[in-house]
Amino acid sequence: MNAVYCTILTIGDELLIGQTIDTNSAWMAQQLNPLGIQIKRRVAVGDVRIDMLEAMQEELQRTDILLITGGLGPTNDDITKGVLCEFFNTKLITDAATDSWVREIFEKRNRPILQINLDQALVPEKALVLPNKVGTAPGLLFTQEQKTIVAMPGVPFEMQYLMTEHVIPYLKEKYQTPNFLHRTVVTSGEGESFIATRLIEFEAALPDNIKLAYLPKLGVVKLRLTGREVSETSLNALFVDLIRRLGPIVVSTQDEDLEYTISRILHEQGKTLALAESCTGGAIASLFTAIKGASTIFKGSAVTYRNEVKKTLLDVTSIDDMNQTTVSENLAKEMAEQVRLKMKADYGLGIVGYLEKHDHDNSVWVAVSTAEKTVTKHFYTYYDRSKNIIFASTMALNFLLKQVEA
Ligand code: AMP
Ligand code: MG
Repeated sequence: MNAVYCTILTIGDELLIGQTIDTNSAWMAQQLNPLGIQIKRRVAVGDVRIDMLEAMQEELQRTDILLITGGLGPTNDDITKGVLCEFFNTKLITDAATDSWVREIFEKRNRPILQINLDQALVPEKALVLPNKVGTAPGLLFTQEQKTIVAMPGVPFEMQYLMTEHVIPYLKEKYQTPNFLHRTVVTSGEGESFIATRLIEFEAALPDNIKLAYLPKLGVVKLRLTGREVSETSLNALFVDLIRRLGPIVVSTQDEDLEYTISRILHEQGKTLALAESCTGGAIASLFTAIKGASTIFKGSAVTYRNEVKKTLLDVTSIDDMNQTTVSENLAKEMAEQVRLKMKADYGLGIVGYLEKHDHDNSVWVAVSTAEKTVTKHFYTYYDRSKNIIFASTMALNFLLKQVEA
């Protein structure tokens, strides 16, 4: 079966100067991946007529599907509609359905309607109009031989609505794609180059239609096996072999971040977690808070940065000098125990450390406490402050996961 290719073209000056980060492309790619549609390229251009025309011209030579976002707003800087008319040799006409939708929205909100709002109903005559129920600018779908071109607004939730409601169902119906299967394993505790060295034989023996990808982040490396036109059984067999070779560094065989794995397990166990964070300043708490339904497992976090606060809030005793910052195994231990007791949780986690070199040392102590015992772990951080916070959080979560799994 032939591959089906897609190019994502994002439009907007804000993308080129880095004011807005292009999250649309990543989201669209994530949706297209499981459908077996291969992303050929991701291209970004400014709100510049000639650059848009050239990009469309070029990309349509090598792709089956061209997905465009941005530049559909009502203001003068947004010129995508005019450029599409020029490209497809057509003119703007009023789309009656969009016109009444825009009027309805403004009536509901009791806001005066301006001509530029009504102009949202002007669409290229050759386009199939995709109704946008979460905004005013509709999606515009064009076909050229077997190719499909869709323009959508840049606002992420509007683009996501149009993709989900209209574009994905349309593409599924129109294109037959080869089947792609993915399996992802999450590891922590070993750098990607070490892992790669251990996997030389495994990679060399992979058939042509199966690829191994390394996705490193601070403290974590995800490995993804992607098979094209493979059976689930044969990909699974390779996946099991991969997990066996990775050994103790495997933290999850699902494509999820550590806090999700921990939440899932705590949920199953009916257990709760409390945190006492010093050097991570609430970063671990914010990871758990981001998970839907977090309150069933997550009690809270005491962000106790200065010694005096650790003492008054957590009643720790292993601090001598109130004016100093203390980093010690005992302190981490006490923080974990105290926060577990004070917040009436099953697991308590305490973390203290230096985010920058302190007396030639940037060590971190983390402790996990349960009713039975308290265990500790020591490590060093290597980066700048903000990266060290992420790294320390990941290391702490990895240690917590080991205890929760035990
Ligand atoms: P526009 O459709 O060009 O009026 O874009 C509206 C807003 O959507 C912009 O101000 C950006 O904040 C946002 N936006 C546009 N393109 C993207 C993109 N590729 N990724 C994320 N946000 C975007
Ligand atoms: Mg724009």
